[in-house]
Amino acid sequence: MSAELLNGSRLAQRVRSQIRRSLKKLNFTPGLAVVQVGNDPASTLYIKHKQRDCEKVHFHSEVHHLPADISQETLIAHIETLNARPDIHGMLVQMPLPDGINKEAVIDRIAPHKDADGLNPVNLGNLLINRERVTPCTPTGIIRLIELSGEKIEGKHAVCVGRSPLVGKPVGLMLLNRNATVTYCHSRTADLKVETQKADILVVAIGRTEFITADMVKPGAIVIDVGINHVDGRAIGDVRFEDVKEVAGFITPVPGGVGPMTRAMLLANTLKLAIGG
Ligand code: NAP
Repeated sequence: MSAELLNGSRLAQRVRSQIRRSLKKLNFTPGLAVVQVGNDPASTLYIKHKQRDCEKVHFHSEVHHLPADISQETLIAHIETLNARPDIHGMLVQMPLPDGINKEAVIDRIAPHKDADGLNPVNLGNLLINRERVTPCTPTGIIRLIELSGEKIEGKHAVCVGRSPLVGKPVGLMLLNRNATVTYCHSRTADLKVETQKADILVVAIGRTEFITADMVKPGAIVIDVGINHVDGRAIGDVRFEDVKEVAGFITPVPGGVGPMTRAMLLANTLKLAIGG
């Protein structure tokens, strides 16, 4: 058996077309501001992608490039000016931040109604109490990919490998909110294979190259590979794709799975914030 591919690139294209259609009904242009502190080359590349995505859906986007030695207070003051601007509907601060700046303290100051990444504690708190508003981009994209399979989430046993606040923890909550039975696994899980073998839905976000092997996967499972590991200039997932696809029912590729959906969900979140949804 060979798993059905959950094609994130194609789904992301569909999301962008839907956004362009929705935009025709609006009489204003959604605006996204990206704050970059310092010159991390990977961040510069990610931001370029985000700007290009904004162009594709005719959003206004601007990059606020601030020096690496900026103080936390000045950075927060900058965020406050963006909070106050009516033409900016969403913003994000590109991570990582330079040493000496407290990431949480910065995210705290992004107004929840402008929090395009969905990582402000108010939005994460709403997720916790099943009042989803703006949810983090990668988990939201993962839910859309699972839905693409056509399988119901309700009643399924979902196993999240990884419990980061960016991916593992919020995606588990989103699955729970959709009535899956959720198990979280992490680096201290006693017997990972025993847990992953029970998964109808297996979400892997650990950052370990091809860590999940075919013997760890339940036949027919939906396998979502979040990992991006750079090996010899190539992006490789956390799942050993070639073997696991012979066991799984559905699987996301790397690249072309979760990554493009993360970017598409940033646009979807920005639109949601712009229309006050
Ligand atoms: P992270 O903050 O480093 O968290 C990694 C998680 O994996 C932790 O919870 C850790 O457990 C767990 N873990 C590590 N080794 C493990 C092991 N051997 N067995 C079981 N669990 C283990 O990483 P992240 O930000 O969630 O990102 C994870 C991966 O997804 C990375 O490759 C990243 O590049 C990728 N990513 C992709 C996208 C995308 O759009 N495609 C977006 C975000 C992240 P502990 O909590 O016990 O330490």
